[in-house]
Amino acid sequence: MLRSTLLAASRSPRSRKLIEQLPPTRAIVNRFVAGETLVDGVSVTRDLVATGRRITLDHLGEDTSDATQAAATAEAYEKLLAALAESGLADRAEVSVKLSAVGQFLPQDGEKVALDNARRICEAAGAVGTTVTLDMEDHTTTDSTLGIARELRADFPWLGVVLQAYLHRTEADCAEFSGPGSRVRLCKGAYQEPASVAFQKKSEVDLAYVRCLKVLMAGEGYPMVASHDPRLIRIAGELAAANGRAADSFEYQMLYGIRPEEQERLIAEGNTMRVYLPYGNEWYGYFMRRLAERPANLTFFLRALATK
Ligand code: FAD
Repeated sequence: MLRSTLLAASRSPRSRKLIEQLPPTRAIVNRFVAGETLVDGVSVTRDLVATGRRITLDHLGEDTSDATQAAATAEAYEKLLAALAESGLADRAEVSVKLSAVGQFLPQDGEKVALDNARRICEAAGAVGTTVTLDMEDHTTTDSTLGIARELRADFPWLGVVLQAYLHRTEADCAEFSGPGSRVRLCKGAYQEPASVAFQKKSEVDLAYVRCLKVLMAGEGYPMVASHDPRLIRIAGELAAANGRAADSFEYQMLYGIRPEEQERLIAEGNTMRVYLPYGNEWYGYFMRRLAERPANLTFFLRALATK
């Protein structure tokens, strides 16, 4: 119930206005977001890389309804990739892109605009020797996003895709995307989805996650295990060992600001650990999804409000 309310609020312009104006919001947002500017994103990347972490940077933004804004987002990624290369970080840091931020929802030729903008970003990433992963948004976009991914992969075989274990379809998608070299980030899924397309109970989602992990770990691709869940992290390690995978043939991923000690433990054990690092001023939707995932985050937020 609380999760549904927060996820509904994450898409409400009224709630957005209200929450953005609350005095302590910024301090709490900073726990999950590197800062507002490219310089902030690169600076936090540098600090995290020094600790042995790899990074995937997200220039915050989603649901763009304006072609100029979509092109500006692609340009922001090009600048980010150039800055990573200049700072000598491109071998440790890649980028994550939401297709809705580069035009997927535009009424006129949205998919084509998103494909062209994503291609620009892939070209810029390839030029500096790093990679791109396409984030996955709500289920109405899955077919479109995977279609664009298939097209881009013809030219950029290293392009990563995200699959969400909570969707009924995902086990089959894992099988399709588990071929040689295929980079797949497996996450539980962060959006509010109907029972017709997605498992609703946490226990069902967790079981689906394990089934998907089995397919990916047994496949020939490069699984990216995106979860903070201790049980799933343990199972991922066991499945990697059972399939004879070397430590460099898969990686763990977590969100910036969540379970940093666990990130360090996994690195100390010789694993690759990549942190998803968002920056920019369009933080509202991302922040609300993080509150929805964990009641303790909401309590922390409300307590900060009460003490103001
Ligand atoms: P949960 O069962 O939610 O959490 C397990 C434990 O992790 C909790 O008990 C708690 O200890 C800790 N934890 C989890 N969330 C939080 C939090 N917000 N704050 C503090 N502690 C927390 N979703 C998409 O739909 N599309 C994407 O493209 C996408 N990309 C992602 C990329 C990365 C690298 C990661 C890590 C997640 C991504 N997600 C994405 C979000 C994902 O779908 C989940 O919503 C999120 O990771 C929480 O699920 P969990 O596996 O951590 O398990």
